[in-house]
Order: sequence, then structure tokens, then C-alpha cells
Amino acid sequence: MLKLYNTFSRKIEDFKPINPPHVGIYTCGPTVYREVHIGNFRTYLMADFLRRMLEYNGFKVTHIKNITDVGHMRQVGQGHHAQNIDPIIKEAMDQGKTPLEIAQYYTSLFLEDEKKLNILKANVYPKATEHINEMIEMIKLLLKKEIAYESDGNIYFDVKKFKDYGMLSGNTLDKMDNLLEAVRISVETDKKDSADFALWKKAEKDRLMKWDSPWGSGFPGWHIECSAMSIKYLGKTFDIHTGGEDLIFPHHEDEIAQSEGASGKKFVNYWLHGGYLLVDGEKMSRSKGNVYTISEIEKRVMPGGRQGFDALAFRYLTMMTHYKSKMNFTFEALEGAQTALNRLKETMVAWEKPRIGCAEYEQRFLDAINNDLNMPEALSIVWELVRSDYPTSAKAESLFKFDKVLGLDLAKNQKSKIKNQKLEIPEKVTKLIKERDKFRRQKNFDMADKLRNKIKEIGYDVEDKGNKSVVKKV
Ligand code: AMP
Ligand code: ZN
Repeated sequence: MLKLYNTFSRKIEDFKPINPPHVGIYTCGPTVYREVHIGNFRTYLMADFLRRMLEYNGFKVTHIKNITDVGHMRQVGQGHHAQNIDPIIKEAMDQGKTPLEIAQYYTSLFLEDEKKLNILKANVYPKATEHINEMIEMIKLLLKKEIAYESDGNIYFDVKKFKDYGMLSGNTLDKMDNLLEAVRISVETDKKDSADFALWKKAEKDRLMKWDSPWGSGFPGWHIECSAMSIKYLGKTFDIHTGGEDLIFPHHEDEIAQSEGASGKKFVNYWLHGGYLLVDGEKMSRSKGNVYTISEIEKRVMPGGRQGFDALAFRYLTMMTHYKSKMNFTFEALEGAQTALNRLKETMVAWEKPRIGCAEYEQRFLDAINNDLNMPEALSIVWELVRSDYPTSAKAESLFKFDKVLGLDLAKNQKSKIKNQKLEIPEKVTKLIKERDKFRRQKNFDMADKLRNKIKEIGYDVEDKGNKSVVKKV
């Protein structure tokens, strides 16, 4: 049985999809005004392992990942005096581009990085800017049901009208006052209750990104984006929603309130949240300035001389910690992951072609991934299999299967390594082989054997096939 930890129930549950074999997953995607950092990617990798694990089990997954290309922050003041300025708009102003150009540029970088990390493409990457109408329709419905109210061109969700508010995060209304004091950021003096949140915000004068609505020119709140788009592509109730643990409150709590308020139906059956990637014990985040991007790790030079890491080494690294636990990032740990990945691929070069797999290990691997995505356990099973006495053809068959979940390009790499290996014979060895060939032609087998031993000492073996010498790495 497949089990997942559900943040909503705070329990590990048996996974039962609504409409098997189909499974719908919605992943909160990036805000595209900067390069996405590896902390964000840890969370997207969790969603990728989840999706691959479900597909490994025979489910047909529809995966939706939104692109937040609308800025949601209000701006106070104009031009250079502007404060609280929205990051997408700020980046556009700084670079002399339109917000859409900024969003397009960083979206394409994001998609390239996802590809490098072998994150499977989502079925749809809906953009917030292309779904403003769906958001407006949902807000209209909430107003009609009187769960939302208008105040001077702003629309707020009336949290007191949604009795289940707080069930996901535990921030129920009775506990909210203190919390809101702590997180209050903006100047929303026109709300009925401080717990209410914006669905639609009135545009400031000269704001760069704004849309017409029944309530005047404005822009949507952040949470409504994910409600409108997930429901459009997956239906009013769908199977799994993922994100990082910082999205539990308020983002996902508010998504539930809006979606269930509008549809009258349960929004999501399983909520999965990934733990933070930390640097020196602190959350990796733009605002703390402690972020690394994929292109940075690819170029990183280590004190020991290593020139750069593969994006896939980061993928490997994330498997070494359970997705729910926080994980401290260091380049030393990344180096360890890169070494392990290289070793795995190098070991496989000498293996026979895949034939019949090892049933025992395949069962254990399946049990591990189906147990709330226990990737650390899955990795240790991989290494046990590698070190086992099974024939290499069996190990190869099983590992290529596992790679459907691991996503480490093991098969591709094995082929290219075999090709490369032929080119990598050191000059010294080539010279000795030529000399040995000469002795063989002269039928001086004593000398030929001596040279073979010399070649062996360097780590290569020569086999005689007719007139030719075939070299292998020992
Ligand atoms: P954002 O662009 O800030 O909305 O973040 C995109 C995704 O990355 C969200 O699911 C966040 O929860 C997640 N995220 C942000 N920072 C981290 C971090 N340091 N570690 C893991 N996930 C993160
Ligand atoms: Zn979202």
C-alpha cells in the first residue's frame, strides 16, 4: 500500500486517488523575477519524486505547476520614492524592461534548470497573467455568496464566514490575533477583521501591471491565483497539493478557504509539504541573501580543485534526506553526493547488458518509495544492490528500473561512458601496446608478455584477438 504524510490530518495515510488510475497534482510554482534558487528546487524535486513514484506504481499523473508572473505587493509612493515595491515590477524598472519580459526571461531559465535536474515537465505551466478572468469569476462568486466584501476597490475574504479556517495550519481564528500582529505587513486599514486577506487589490496610480475588473483597475491577491488555476485544470476536488512548509500558512490555508468557500466542496485530499533547505542553520531565501542557484553550483570551484558540480549531484543530495526534514546545504555535502553519483555511474560502466532483475531488491525499493517517499532508504537499497553478489546484468536491469524514480540518467550515462572509455587510454599505454605488437609480429613472446605485465601495472589489460590487441581497463 502506498502511504503519504498528509499535513492536513498530521498523519501518514493510505493514498487513495479520486479517480484511479488518474492522479492530479498541483505544485505551487516559482515567482519569476529572479533565478529560482536550490532551496526552491528542493521543493520541486520533492514533487518530482512524488510524481515519478506514482507513475512507477502505474498511476497516470496530471501535474500542474503554476508560474507566478503577477506581482502581488502593493506599492507605496511613486518612481524612485516607491516603497514596498513589488519585486517583479522593481526588477522591470531596474532593467528598463516590461514586467512580462522579466517574467518570460526568468521562466525560461527556470525551465532550463528543471531540465538539468531531470524534473519531469508538468503537463501545464499555467501563468497567472493568463488566468485573470478565472480569478475574477471566482471572486465574483465569493462576493455573491457574501464570503467576501468590497472596500474601496479592494476585495477581501471574510475569514469569519469560513468556519473551517485554520484546519491546515492550526492557525484557527481564536489563535490568530497574536499571530497577525507578528506578520502584519501592509496598510490594510479598510478590512473588517485583521485576519481577512485580499482577493483583489486596487491599483496604485501609474502601477505597471494592472487589469480591469468589475471593481475597477487592480491586480489579484496571490492566493486566489492558485485556487483559480488548480480548479481549472484539476477540478474542484483533486488529489495532491504540494509546496514548501512556508506555504502552509497563510498561502495554502487561504487557498482552502477561497476554494471551498466558492465550490462548497473539499478542495484537496492530500497536502504534502517539503522541509526547508538551510544554510548554516537558516532558511535559504532571497531576503537573507544566502541563496545559491543551479548555474552557481555548476561553476563552483572547490578548494580541493573540483571544477563545478552537475545539477544531478544536487538531485542526488536531496535524496539523502527525507523530504519532510530540514536539510542543511554545504558544498562539502554536495561534493560527497557528486562523488557517490560518479562512483555509481563508473561502477555501472563495466556491467553486462540488463537482463532479468533482482526481485528481492525491487520489492524493497518499491516498499521504500511507497512508504511516504523514503528516498534515503531507497538510495541505501541501491548501494546494497550494487555491492551484492547478483550478476551485473541483473543489477543493471533493476537499477535502470529504479532510475525511473531516481532520475539520475543512469542508462544514458552508461552508454556514453563506454564510448568515452575507448578514448581515455593514456599515451603511455598506447606506446607500450605498439611496442608489444612489434614483439608479437617478431614472435618474441617473452618480451610481449613482459610488456603485457607492465601495461597491467598501469591498470590496463591487453587481449590478443587475431592480429589485433584489444585493451580493457582492469
Ligand atoms: P516562492 O517562489 O518563494 O513562492 O517559493 C517557491 C517554492 O519554494 C515554494 O514551494 C516554497 O515553499 C519553496 N521554498 C522557498 N524557500 C525554500 C527553502 N529554503 N527550502 C525549501 N523550499 C523552499
Ligand atoms: Zn500556490
